[in-house]
Amino acid sequence: MSKAPDVKYFEPPSYISAADIKARILELAAKINDDYAGIDLTLICTLKGSIVFFTDLIRELRMPIHCEFIGTSSYGNHTESTGEIKVTLDLNEPLIGKHVLIVEDIVDTGLTLAYLIDYLKVRKPASLRTVSLLHKPETLKVKTLKMDYIGFQIPNKFVVGYGLDYAEKFRGLPYIGYLENEH
Ligand code: 5GP
Repeated sequence: MSKAPDVKYFEPPSYISAADIKARILELAAKINDDYAGIDLTLICTLKGSIVFFTDLIRELRMPIHCEFIGTSSYGNHTESTGEIKVTLDLNEPLIGKHVLIVEDIVDTGLTLAYLIDYLKVRKPASLRTVSLLHKPETLKVKTLKMDYIGFQIPNKFVVGYGLDYAEKFRGLPYIGYLENEH
């Protein structure tokens, strides 16, 4: 029996393919493996956008790891972030004396990551670095932002998929797509 097409299910055009993401994660992991060889590493996944990147990245790491999760939401609407961030879920474990890597999905203005760094730094980790799968240099406001590892620099497009959403949709796409109009 033929079914009517699901008009609610829309696949955005691909911007970065699943194969290219995988290849870049292998390169990032190789650098991280070198930099932290033999060191216990605490990785902090920023919910929810980083979940897919986080789970793929940790499977390529070759040091003892600890996984932590932090939830944030920004005040204001999506296009105009105020830079004031609300932590909606905090870590389970203290960070004092630990080597910590914050795992971000995307740095746009940089306000979220800058806030998180300040928020976590006071817990006195032995070191605190960041990795972001995506970075939009054109929209970066926090020019001093500490970005240690970057997957891809992208133009000012609204991207979805591979964990990133638009109104909670598209997180399950295996590639990174972009939206030209709202769907
Ligand atoms: P910020 O502007 O603080 O660097 O980024 C804040 C948050 O906005 C990111 O963590 C991400 O959740 C969201 N964001 C920024 N740009 C995009 C984008 O192109 N696509 C999606 N899905 N989220 C984005």
